[in-house]
Amino acid sequence: MGDYKHIKVPAGEQIRIVNGLPETPAHPILGYIEGDGIGPDIWKAAQHIFDEAVEHCYGNTRKVAWMEIYAGEKGNAVTGSYLPDETLTAIEEYQIAIKGPLTTPVGGGFRSLNVTLRQKLDLFACVRPVRHFDGVPSPVLKPEDVDMVIFRENTEDVYSGMELASGGAKAEKLKHFCETEFGWKINDLSGLGLKPISPSCTRRLVRAAMKYAIKNHRKSVTIVHKGNIMKYTEGAFMKWAYELVKEEFGDVAISWDECKGKAGGKILVKDSIADIFLQQVLTRPREFDVVATMNLNGDYISDALAAQVGGIGIAPGANINYETGVSVFEATHGTAPKYAGLDKVNPCSLVLSGVLMFEHIGWVEVAEAITQAVTRTIGSKIVTYDFARLMKDAKEVKCSEFAQAVVEHLPA
Ligand code: NAP
Repeated sequence: MGDYKHIKVPAGEQIRIVNGLPETPAHPILGYIEGDGIGPDIWKAAQHIFDEAVEHCYGNTRKVAWMEIYAGEKGNAVTGSYLPDETLTAIEEYQIAIKGPLTTPVGGGFRSLNVTLRQKLDLFACVRPVRHFDGVPSPVLKPEDVDMVIFRENTEDVYSGMELASGGAKAEKLKHFCETEFGWKINDLSGLGLKPISPSCTRRLVRAAMKYAIKNHRKSVTIVHKGNIMKYTEGAFMKWAYELVKEEFGDVAISWDECKGKAGGKILVKDSIADIFLQQVLTRPREFDVVATMNLNGDYISDALAAQVGGIGIAPGANINYETGVSVFEATHGTAPKYAGLDKVNPCSLVLSGVLMFEHIGWVEVAEAITQAVTRTIGSKIVTYDFARLMKDAKEVKCSEFAQAVVEHLPA
């Protein structure tokens, strides 16, 4: 344990996972990956807020021992690999980590490091709470009506990486097999990909969403799918989700079909086809609460909903395996390379991902203090460029200055 070539393990204690839940010591070792592009700027800002908030809440009785782990461009510079094995080992051993964004080349090059991390660590649930903070500019009339938590399946679907390039021998072989065995007509030179959706991965994702809904007193869980078109993948996801709810949560949840919307105090479980869902979250957002969906839908839905409450600059995310307890909290935006090193961008996505992390490890006072401080700072119209350009009379500050303002707005 802790015998790494490049990672330096700080003095501190390891978090233990008991029944999938963290038991947090006073000086927990938490891993962090700075990230590429704007990553170092937002990590510096976020870490400043985290450390000050912990001290603010607990004095010197508790403190995080931060352990830098490497991935992306810094990973390559330090270790010679964009995703070194010891990074995966360290996250598995120390269970909980937080990360900035990592670069992924489009249409070639290496595979997304984010997707690889999620799949290698089997972080099956991507959890993205979407709510509005007072004063944050939004393109919709009533952003305060948006209060949803998306559970996106993280390991399957067209993200599983089973893709074959156009014109390659393997794509031709699969095309030939599909044509001869199934009579499927596939256009010449098609790139091909598989969309696996399994009952086991569906069930564990929906179970996590249901448990979250119960714990957080949420009113409904909506299963979002395109099962009308993709019957045996997305349609099956819906069917398996309802079956799971009936088998394991029948005492606390009821499906729309059983009650026609009158849940009588139970959690209402309903489903929605993805395209109409994307309309209704705009026109009737109050009807949606916890959302459970597959990987690709979840990706689009997360960003679309984030836009309703102020954009990806403020949307937090967590990738969690609720069975092993291993989790990686992360900013949901990318590396925004044109702003790298300018100390300019909004650190809120990473900061609020930290809020999720502190909630997860049970340091709820820290999570609450940071949430309040961010709300107050934005309420005082102290914001980074992205919000300033949409707000009247805002004071535009740098990323680091925003972090300092958040620290100064920590509640008494
Ligand atoms: P992006 O980095 O998210 O940036 C797109 C735009 O979003 C920026 O130009 C900026 O808008 C705004 N933005 C992003 N982060 C912001 C922040 N913290 N504060 C304020 N505004 C912010 O998306 P991209 O340009 O498509 O992707 C760049 C790289 O990031 C790619 O390699 C991609 O693969 C990678 N990526 C990584 C992750 C991840 O690590 N989880 C996620 C998505 C993308 P304005 O130009 O309007 O100011």
